[in-house]
Amino acid sequence: MLELKMYINGQWVESESGKTFAARNPATGEVIAHLPEGTREDARRAVAAANENKHRIAEMPVWERARLCERIAEVMEKRREELARILTLDQGKPYHTEAQFEVRKAAEGWRNAAEHIKWLETSFIPVEDPHKRVFTIRQPRGVYAIITPWNFPLNIPIEYLAPGLAAGNAIVWVPAPTTSAVAVKMVECLEEAEVPPGVVNLVTGPGPVVGDEIVAHPGTDAVGFTGSSATGEHIARRAAGKPLLLELGGNGPTIILEDADLERAVQVTAEGCFLNAGQICCATERILVHERVHEEVVQLLVSAAQKVRLGDPFDENTTMGPLNNEPTAQKMDRHLRDAQEKGATLLYGGRRAPEYGSDLFYQPTVVDKVPRDSALFQEESFGPVAPVTAASSDEELLRLANDNPLGLVSAVFTESARRAFYFAERLQTGIVNINDSTLYWELHLPFGGASGKRSGIGRLGGKYTLLEMTDLKTICWDIGG
Ligand code: NAD
Repeated sequence: MLELKMYINGQWVESESGKTFAARNPATGEVIAHLPEGTREDARRAVAAANENKHRIAEMPVWERARLCERIAEVMEKRREELARILTLDQGKPYHTEAQFEVRKAAEGWRNAAEHIKWLETSFIPVEDPHKRVFTIRQPRGVYAIITPWNFPLNIPIEYLAPGLAAGNAIVWVPAPTTSAVAVKMVECLEEAEVPPGVVNLVTGPGPVVGDEIVAHPGTDAVGFTGSSATGEHIARRAAGKPLLLELGGNGPTIILEDADLERAVQVTAEGCFLNAGQICCATERILVHERVHEEVVQLLVSAAQKVRLGDPFDENTTMGPLNNEPTAQKMDRHLRDAQEKGATLLYGGRRAPEYGSDLFYQPTVVDKVPRDSALFQEESFGPVAPVTAASSDEELLRLANDNPLGLVSAVFTESARRAFYFAERLQTGIVNINDSTLYWELHLPFGGASGKRSGIGRLGGKYTLLEMTDLKTICWDIGG
């Protein structure tokens, strides 16, 4: 049992209220840690600390900031087993495959920011006035309020913290309550790597309290948020006027055409549905199949689901752990019930599997004939489900894909370049993957939602995050003469 604290102004502290909350292992229900239940006053202290200390990072030379990020990566690599273990205990993902992978990528995230900040060029702009010389510089925005979800409790925070620090911002971070134990462990790594005190502050507690306070507080200059569309839109209103980087929900349509390599298409699509028990913003959430290959695709999906091994996330044979929390499991229950009531056919799975250790285990599920007016089709499910809908033409498949309020990532499987471009240019998502699943992404690629959809604002990834997390300043110089 761990007794953990928050990190404010370089000190490990309790909540001023003295209250705590329990972190539970989703695979067993056991309490693994106690954490401070932060209050608005705790959040205000963190914002004040960030403001008092922001000069320490803003004035640090760029090469030194890059070196700081590299040191954090080194500490995380040194502590990788401890981090992966607490990640599995806190989140539920399989230790040997997914947790260790996430820790490896987390360290890479710090190195990625260290590299990109060194090569972030600006411009020298020709002007009409012959006496002027005009150029631009990029500067830190100041103090960032960062709020993150529980599905990738290391990687998603690092998508903001690493470029945020590399660019010279101070940070106040509120992690999701159900994965705050692993957040504390990451901040220990930052402390060990000698991030100056007060530059990164961690406040644990309920999002609507401590998260709301840091978003709306006049002492934070900008906001980075990953989470659901509803919370993101609420935060956008509370942070009105501040620069926003919002990464919200997805409902990943995947189009499988009759000329595709079906075995590969279904194999990677199933990974897109079942990895991290489907709790991924870019998960495959809807499988839209040309009716000529519908039967074959459905059979292949069922056999992929049969291969999934639910179980203890520390067991080497386990390929899927529990869901992280009860509201996510309830959403799966609701989506499956609603789809079947509206005429969908359940082909495999479809219920919770408490026999594996807790009520949060959910069977990998395949549902066919999913109607477009069902919640399973229209909303993000965020669980281990492969929902299939068939159509007879490219135009109809495109309409189905775009008939959705969300637009983050889509995928298309075809051997035809013409058809691939037909879809790639018309799909209303920020990213289109051709002949790979909705999951494919690398740390330096621009990632984010399409305009007009509810999947977010701005782009994460490599230099794109640095552009979002800095102010562009124009300097005009009259040289006389
Ligand atoms: P959520 O919106 O419920 O919570 C996200 C975070 O916001 C949590 O830390 C929570 O405590 C905090 N929060 C809740 N209410 C708040 C409020 N009123 N003010 C300030 N903070 C508040 O989302 P979740 O269930 O934790 O995460 C799952 C969602 O995240 C899914 O919709 C998923 O698609 C999305 N997501 C998006 C991306 C992306 O890059 N686009 C990546 C991962 C997850």
